Amino acid sequence: MDNRSVVGRVFDIQKFCTHDGTGIRTVVFLKGCILRCRWCCNPESQSYEIQEMRTANGKRIVGYDTTVGEVIRRVLQDMPYYRRSHGGLTLSGGEALCQTEFVSALLTVAKENGIDTAVETTACLPYYMIEPHLPMLNTILLDIKHMNSEKHEQFTTMRNELILSNARKMAAAGAHIIVRVPTIPTFNDTEEEIREIARFAKSLPGVEEIHLLPYHRLGYDKYVGLDREYLMGDLVTPPADKMERLRQVAEREGLRALIGG
Ligand code: SF4
Repeated sequence: MDNRSVVGRVFDIQKFCTHDGTGIRTVVFLKGCILRCRWCCNPESQSYEIQEMRTANGKRIVGYDTTVGEVIRRVLQDMPYYRRSHGGLTLSGGEALCQTEFVSALLTVAKENGIDTAVETTACLPYYMIEPHLPMLNTILLDIKHMNSEKHEQFTTMRNELILSNARKMAAAGAHIIVRVPTIPTFNDTEEEIREIARFAKSLPGVEEIHLLPYHRLGYDKYVGLDREYLMGDLVTPPADKMERLRQVAEREGLRALIGG
């Protein structure tokens, strides 16, 4: 089949994004995720099924099937901005790499058109579903959420051994990785927990950068719209001075540490 005819399931395409890789980017959000993080701000991404979600503006159908050709057509509309800003295309989700055939075709066509490519990934899937994409990815935005596997499972439903193993394999293969840490109160927002993640990140060959992404409650209304319980209670975004302390902890491990994407 021609790459442009391959079909995938997405739930959003956002343009002019500046926190998901370098420069100005178009972010394509793919449906379906392996994890069920308690703090997830895109709960509509988790199920692969097309869903109905109530919003302030009425009901919205979340998810649709589309072709690589259609996605690339929209991505190419902003080529002048990518060129000027060193931006490009970022695949997000959900876990984008679950839709292997679609991702492979999309990255192939993106590369044919000279587009910089990035993926946001949990790395919580077999390595054979990651490895083939590496040559077509300029950047991997890799979530490392916790170094303690029990706690990882408690808050995300999955243990972390596979993620850490894949992180080592990707780094050894020469992938350009930026480690991202959703920084979540009651889960991983202590200096010790951030230090452990930063040490692991620093141990990966070639990794120089870590981003701490502060928890926020922006997904709350979506849980209501999907008739799902919001499991984070009334927790709020960590204060700026605390985030700065955590950033300094990560930086002391020898990484360039940023707050945000
Ligand atoms: S990995 Fe990301 S998309 Fe998946 S459940 Fe966790 S926060 Fe949501």
